[in-house]
Amino acid sequence: MSRSFQRLALAGALASAGLMFATGPAEAGNRPAKTVPVRLLSLNDFHGHLEPPTGSSGRLVDETGATVEAGGAAYIAAHMEQLTDSNTIKVAQGDLIGATPLISAAFHDEPSVEFLGKIGITTSAVGNHEFDEGYDELKRIMYGGCHPVDGCSPAGQWKGAKYDYIGANVILKRNTGGAEKDALAALGKNTGAIRGLLRQYGVPALPPVSIRWMNGVPVGFIGLVTRTTPNIVTAEGIKDLEFVDEVKAANVASKLLKLVGVRAQVVLVHEGDQVTPGQSPDACSAQPGAGNRIATQVDAEIDMILSGHSHQAYLCTVTDPKGGKRLYSQGGSFGRVITKVDFRVDTRTRDVVRSSVVADNQVVTRTVTPDPEISQFVQTWKDRVSTVANKPIGKITADIVNTAAPSGESPLGNLIADGQLAAAKNGGNAQIALMNPGGVRASLTYASSPAGEGDGVVTYGEAFTVQPFNNLLQVVTLTGAQLKTVLEQQFPGGPNNQAFTKILQPSSNFTYSYSASAPWGSKISDMKIDGVPVTDTQTIRVAANNFLVGGGDAFAAFTEGTDVWSGPLDIDAFAAHFAANPVIAPPVPDHITVTP
Ligand SMILES: [Zn+2]
Repeated sequence: MSRSFQRLALAGALASAGLMFATGPAEAGNRPAKTVPVRLLSLNDFHGHLEPPTGSSGRLVDETGATVEAGGAAYIAAHMEQLTDSNTIKVAQGDLIGATPLISAAFHDEPSVEFLGKIGITTSAVGNHEFDEGYDELKRIMYGGCHPVDGCSPAGQWKGAKYDYIGANVILKRNTGGAEKDALAALGKNTGAIRGLLRQYGVPALPPVSIRWMNGVPVGFIGLVTRTTPNIVTAEGIKDLEFVDEVKAANVASKLLKLVGVRAQVVLVHEGDQVTPGQSPDACSAQPGAGNRIATQVDAEIDMILSGHSHQAYLCTVTDPKGGKRLYSQGGSFGRVITKVDFRVDTRTRDVVRSSVVADNQVVTRTVTPDPEISQFVQTWKDRVSTVANKPIGKITADIVNTAAPSGESPLGNLIADGQLAAAKNGGNAQIALMNPGGVRASLTYASSPAGEGDGVVTYGEAFTVQPFNNLLQVVTLTGAQLKTVLEQQFPGGPNNQAFTKILQPSSNFTYSYSASAPWGSKISDMKIDGVPVTDTQTIRVAANNFLVGGGDAFAAFTEGTDVWSGPLDIDAFAAHFAANPVIAPPVPDHITVTP
């Protein structure tokens, strides 16, 4: 990594703000190759932030070290316009939709996809969140049609994304109908090499690559999404899909591109690394992790790797398998950064001249004039959603926060679990509820919001900000022993491979103790429901969202549950809890006892 820092220092001197690949001596004396310029402008992890994101989601440390406000569709459009030249191709790295604010989510994210088409995005990798509502819904977003349950949005029939969604490592599971046979037949007779590759690799569930011509040369984009996607989206929606190793898939896609003469190759990958907080978006402090593995290991034919998923901004130089240097970048999240990459392509070899690559992360500041057309577009959707968002659903007596107590439970986590238990008692016969902490996205604040609804009032819009995923509430039967395994799986070290401790938020009637220092498998003790000890052999109806029931967040023991009952959406259960309890005080997070 120190090498990258040196390069960045050099880049700062040479390119004022950015990263330059100053490899090799000047080519004086050689016959100058004819090259043409290409500029990429890219976004990642937009997450439907059509309105300027607020709080820490809307702030960023810029290149000068100052914390500035950034993001918002009309500002993104204005910056994109300023940065666009006649050589520009606009791309993205996924999570553009899913886990979005109500303005987008209430309409199945059609407004966000339409916006991204309007600003000229031509190709995006799929992210894990593109699968939040399942593969079929992603195909509807890609190709058009009205929602099968909710019908058309107020804008009318959905016409489909104006950009390609690509994902080379998303494969149809073998023997899911005749899809594989059909795909091979569709290739025809003269594509033996491609058929061979597909046979060895599987049939892509999405277009694996996208090719854009610029100044007479083709630029190939390879889409990749984190192979951990099955752990972090609802299992039912992706049951026909396999998420294979990103490096292997990229290398097959790279060969496919090479077969058709595309040598300028760019990976758009929805996987990335963590950085040291507070760095300039142009710095490289990315800790080598899942993103770096991909960036360093994919075929040397690939010229640069634009990443996403970890919501960090960085510009790094990595070494490819043949020792060449290439760009590995990410542009933060929520539309706060546009990554600009300039390079030249040799018109004879059609390959990227690596020494010409200059990258710069551009902060989407709000000091420019917002794009008037996009401002109007956002306002239209704001009006459409306001009737839903501003509706009061109940009152709180004080802030109910999602900040964890030392035990790992939070007042808001408790409250959500209580609401889920209440909603799943009738019909699902639930006895307890468990909520994943990562799904409690914001705190409920007592002070009135800018909408001015009055102190203590909770609106549907505020509740939605807390519970934005549109997960289904489900109930499964677990034995006492299986429930204990679920709780053991909160901790790293077990066979489920939890990355770090994740304490599930319990309903108020469920108590237990844990010892973090005890060996994995014997950390949990003293489980009680309504004060009655739980035995290993008794059966318990456990309510949780479909993400957890499907084994999400590495809670594999949930998948052993039987007699699945599916209830309302989690946000509806939460709103119903307010309807039944119009004034709610913060629960005390004292259901879990930590022992030495
Ligand atoms: Zn992601």
